[in-house]
Amino acid sequence: MSDRYSRQVKVLGADAQATLTQKTVLIIGVGALGSINAELLCRSGVGKLILVDDDVVELSNLQRQALYTEEDVGEEKVTALKSHLNKINKEVKVETRKERLSKETELPAYDVILDCTDNLESRFFLNEYALEQKKPCVFCMVVREKGMLYVVEPSTNRACFRCVFDKLESIGNSDELGILNTTTYLAGTLQAAEVMKLLLGEPCVKGLVNFDASAPQLDSYLVKKRKDCPACGR
Ligand SMILES: [Zn+2]
Repeated sequence: MSDRYSRQVKVLGADAQATLTQKTVLIIGVGALGSINAELLCRSGVGKLILVDDDVVELSNLQRQALYTEEDVGEEKVTALKSHLNKINKEVKVETRKERLSKETELPAYDVILDCTDNLESRFFLNEYALEQKKPCVFCMVVREKGMLYVVEPSTNRACFRCVFDKLESIGNSDELGILNTTTYLAGTLQAAEVMKLLLGEPCVKGLVNFDASAPQLDSYLVKKRKDCPACGR
């Protein structure tokens, strides 16, 4: 095994490191959360990353989105991100799809899917897709200094995303309410940590996690599965 992972292997072990190289993570949206996750998972040696997004890099993204530079402004995010990831770790395969997630999108095979979108409609779609594929999805939402994280694991009998968020119209979005880069990096790091556990078959966080970058403290509480949930209650 290359020296690249020597420090990580001391924590994870060589078998786990080898397991990571066999795994594929699908990242939906490569704005702040998506780019931070992509960087961490690439540096960690996850075998393959598939990036899905149709946005271009804007100057206002550079405040909080990982790896993008001033030279990338105007370029497709998936293309720019792939080029940076390749420079970090060429052992990781990076596939790009320049498209906006919709019901017509044909998603490739994966081990874990990451919700790095910014709207409830995409999250409902990903939730149903994860349930259908019986593969986990790690959801994360951030605005201003606050964030929420929830892992849907269809192999368990726990609540799905829609059991938890169906009645929530919107948590607001960072375009209107603003966001600090410390919030997105904290959120992305927590999200990537759950992805790593799922890839390695270790137990991940079971409750809804709330965090606040301005007053660091993680609160997690269990949520109930809803019998009338339109996604998993059938
Ligand atoms: Zn449900």
